Amino acid sequence: MHRPGSNPDAMSPDDILCDFCGAPWDGESLMVEGHRGSCICEPCLRAAAAALIAAGAPEDPASRGDCTLCLRTDRSPVWRSPNGSSEAAETSAAPAPATGAAACRGCIRRSVRLLDASGSDRDAE
Ligand SMILES: [Zn+2]
Ligand SMILES: [Zn+2]
Repeated sequence: MHRPGSNPDAMSPDDILCDFCGAPWDGESLMVEGHRGSCICEPCLRAAAAALIAAGAPEDPASRGDCTLCLRTDRSPVWRSPNGSSEAAETSAAPAPATGAAACRGCIRRSVRLLDASGSDRDAE
């Protein structure tokens, strides 16, 4: 997401916040942007990929929902950030991350390809 109150004509990296953990972008690691300014940072992306793809996502109906990144309601499981609003509670000055942000498998697959293409060191599977 974009930091509330940020100037869209003069965005700095730390105006870009991960929708899943609320962390600001460091300007160097990969940050994948979805629809409506939604973003997922590299650590969240890796965690999502591990949960949804590498582990073989369980078909749990409870884990389905609207994808924050593509805005579709996917029929496959979605990944939700496990650390919710805990960070926001510590730094009350920071905007609360959008709780309930979810990423579908399709978005994670696409994003992981970007991760690979970006030349990050990542073990081949
Ligand atoms: Zn994140
Ligand atoms: Zn999606």
